[in-house]
Amino acid sequence: MVIANSKPKNSYQLPNQVMSNENNKIILPLNLIPKQWLNIASFLPEKPYPALLPNGMPADFETMTKIFPTECVKQAGSSEEFIDIPKGIREGLALCNRPTPLLRAFRLEKALGLDSDRVKIYGKMEYVSPMGSHKGNTALAQAYYAKQDGITGLTTETGAGQWGTALSMAGTMMGLKVKVFQVRASYYDKPGRRVMMHNYGGEVVPSPSNETESGKQFYSKDPNHPGSLGIAISEAVELAMKSPNYKYSLGSVLDFVCLHQTVIGQEAKIQMDIAGDYPDVVIGCIGGGSNFAGIAFPFMKEKLLGNTPETRFIGAEPAACPSITKGKYTWDYGDTAKMAPIAKMYTLGHTFIPPAVHAGGLRYHGAAPLLSMLANHKQMESVMLHQTKAIQAGMLFSRTEGILPAVETCHAVAAVIDEALEAKENGKKKTILFNFSGHGFFDTHAYKALQENKLVDYEYPSKLIQSALGDLPSIDESKFM
Ligand SMILES: *Cc1c(COP(=O)(O)O)cnc(C)c1O
Repeated sequence: MVIANSKPKNSYQLPNQVMSNENNKIILPLNLIPKQWLNIASFLPEKPYPALLPNGMPADFETMTKIFPTECVKQAGSSEEFIDIPKGIREGLALCNRPTPLLRAFRLEKALGLDSDRVKIYGKMEYVSPMGSHKGNTALAQAYYAKQDGITGLTTETGAGQWGTALSMAGTMMGLKVKVFQVRASYYDKPGRRVMMHNYGGEVVPSPSNETESGKQFYSKDPNHPGSLGIAISEAVELAMKSPNYKYSLGSVLDFVCLHQTVIGQEAKIQMDIAGDYPDVVIGCIGGGSNFAGIAFPFMKEKLLGNTPETRFIGAEPAACPSITKGKYTWDYGDTAKMAPIAKMYTLGHTFIPPAVHAGGLRYHGAAPLLSMLANHKQMESVMLHQTKAIQAGMLFSRTEGILPAVETCHAVAAVIDEALEAKENGKKKTILFNFSGHGFFDTHAYKALQENKLVDYEYPSKLIQSALGDLPSIDESKFM
């Protein structure tokens, strides 16, 4: 007999905090997880620019800590070379399967007809985290520090859902509520992600919503508005500012997020050393820039010190939203409705709404200020790729190395293949290291479109971007520099 049970009462009491410095004992090789983050700020060609308020003046500590966890704000202004990772966060990193494996992609090399003694491909496999991507590295840190501030919850945005998943899990670990504004295009494209966020205890709302003033501007005109990361950020920041016991958490772009991701590159450096190699090229996809910064910075430090001047760094961007490749290096808002601080970065304009490509995590109008400065100083390059080519590269990767890349990651894979084939054609030696930022188990929609020959490529939307670049704030640097 079937027991009808549309909404079963939960048989288990779900805990509201499972992790703290005191009570958590994980039997894992904690000693293999980095003990410090690498702060690239101390090696940069210029001092990092401050974040600004709408009045064009540097944001003060008071305002910044109203929005972000206090310790994160301190880290963003630090000039220390290394910053200690608290034990409570390192235990969380162990739960994310750190250190993550470094893969030598021999089968992909073979499929590309490469001479494996001359052209080598290494992938840092961030997908092994239960959260499915690199995002847990900063989610755990931000939730840990937010808890330290004594607040009850965090608001955030999510594009493809990976960040919302990571923060929902990290929030549960640290005993915080998490409210996620998910870009509507992804909310419907990837329902599996929503289920996962709910499982971890997160609350999910499609964005633009009618719950915030920022969202209503778009929702009232079109309840099916596909949304963008820029709009979802506005909604999350607005709600956090309105709610006294909440702060806001961002999954990319900011200096402290890039800092938290440097565990990736520090591990990779040791692993490359064990393999007896050093990369000639370091590649990652760029949404806001955090996974790329994470793998690149420990190697970038050596380049900036003059130890390895030949190492190249390449960010892979979608042609539909190529912030570094086509953007302008200037001051702009981090979000569409001007709720978030202003930063100096490569931007396509905060009012630019990128076409709804499958790589939701790459649909951001700007790029991390730290990366933007490095790109402006020609210390890194960027390329842009159409989604069909990227997803085809992802399919080839899954057929050769077994693992299905996230659509975002596919852009890095395609850039890796281009670099490898260039070396092959020109008879060069080249060792490529790339960040495999996440798995694509929730991206079946995109792979299905590929299999059914239904993927569309969006031309670089130059008209929309030209018009968005007309909406930039005007900032007088001489007032504070
Ligand atoms: C979020 C995400 C990205 C893009 O964000 P970055 O901050 O640029 O790293 C890339 N890959 C995956 C798997 C993601 O979840």
